[in-house]
Amino acid sequence: MVAMTREPGFREEPSLLQALEQALHVVEADVRATGLDGPVGLILNDRDEYAHAVYQGGGSGSTTGIHPADASDPVYVLVAVADDLQNSIMHILWGTVWPVCPAHNLGAHAREHEGAAVWWCNGPGGHVIAPIGHWNG
Ligand SMILES: [Zn+2]
Repeated sequence: MVAMTREPGFREEPSLLQALEQALHVVEADVRATGLDGPVGLILNDRDEYAHAVYQGGGSGSTTGIHPADASDPVYVLVAVADDLQNSIMHILWGTVWPVCPAHNLGAHAREHEGAAVWWCNGPGGHVIAPIGHWNG
């Protein structure tokens, strides 16, 4: 292995971990607003290179996770946590699409839109369903 400089990890940089925890708290509001009552949490990888936002303790194996650099941007960290938690929920609740656009019955996508972190629907024309953390259950 070649030694190389790497970005500080979540354990090395408490402010990044704090940003991650705050983002999870925001996204958790959407989990509750859509009627899911299982616990949400964070798992840090052993080498502190990435973290996963998980529902009911697991189910995120296929994502690349949330990287420390993601957590330094207040919008992107919400998108990254929402995307990762979405993956976990859909894995744990197999066959379930979460969250779903109430207007079009299509799965929502976490993304940045006009400087805000939102749930986006790819229905006709595409539209914002709700800001992340403000799902209208
Ligand atoms: Zn829609």
